Amino acid sequence: MATRMNPKWNGQFSCFDLVAKSTQRPRTIVRVGDLEIGAADFVVMAGPCAVESELQLMQTAEAVASAGARVLRGGAYKPRSSPYAFQGLGVDGLKLLRKARECTGLAIVTEVMSEEDVDLIAEYADIMQVGTRSMENYALLEALGGCGRPVLLKRGMTATLEEFLRSAQVIAAAGNSQIILCERGIRTFETATRNTLDIAAVPVLNAVSHLPVIVDPSHAAGVRSLVPVLSRAAAVVGADGLLVEVHPSPEQALSDGNQSLNFREFRSMMSDLQPYLELQRASHQRSRQLLVVGGAD
Ligand code: PEP
Ligand code: MN
Repeated sequence: MATRMNPKWNGQFSCFDLVAKSTQRPRTIVRVGDLEIGAADFVVMAGPCAVESELQLMQTAEAVASAGARVLRGGAYKPRSSPYAFQGLGVDGLKLLRKARECTGLAIVTEVMSEEDVDLIAEYADIMQVGTRSMENYALLEALGGCGRPVLLKRGMTATLEEFLRSAQVIAAAGNSQIILCERGIRTFETATRNTLDIAAVPVLNAVSHLPVIVDPSHAAGVRSLVPVLSRAAAVVGADGLLVEVHPSPEQALSDGNQSLNFREFRSMMSDLQPYLELQRASHQRSRQLLVVGGAD
């Protein structure tokens, strides 16, 4: 069943005309080489939280590629909660990501934290990631309007969906409509998980926006045991893909080890996902139908 449009949503989001769904623009497909995000395939982006070393990155790239991921993630510039934590390898990390792309054919997604780094990172990355802490960094969003690369925009951890789409509109208004929305969990009163995965955000965003929507179960959960089940939930509610943290030895990771899967766990997550993806494919046509504004249930 396609999600029906709640009349409230229409009023709330239609002002963001460049990213809101309309009869003229029901769907955006973001293309990266031969990869299509927002089309029929469920695109898995996986890799370490941070690029730490050549060995760590190459081993991870090969492992995630052979398990079916299409995009390698890895931060070279890290927004850490503590100023004393590992801040990333910077340009050396970008060079390692480029090498991993050459070796595996995986596309690269990596975070950009400052408008000053946009040109440099765009030379290395296929997709520019805007982290949760930067969702309202308008100088950065505007600079991404002219970067020539698709943008993976993460939802701010305290942002409403309206604020999320407003940030997407800023990027689009600056000239770049190749945007992938990423639900990565929001702050609530719950402390059993790092953030609360707002699973309803996926069908709501699919109903009101033409942009592809992916889910990051790793930062939502904060613990690796929850990542596979949240990934299956994402597939079932109609996400276009995932962003997942994977590390050769999570207990030794320099960041986000608790939520990172090892290679074996990632492989089994990918194979356990298959029946759910088939289910999603079967209902794909129906879930993509243009929604009836104000339709009664
Ligand atoms: C990340 O992807 O490693 C990251 C820092 O994510 P977020 O911005 O969602 O915290
Ligand atoms: Mn991380």
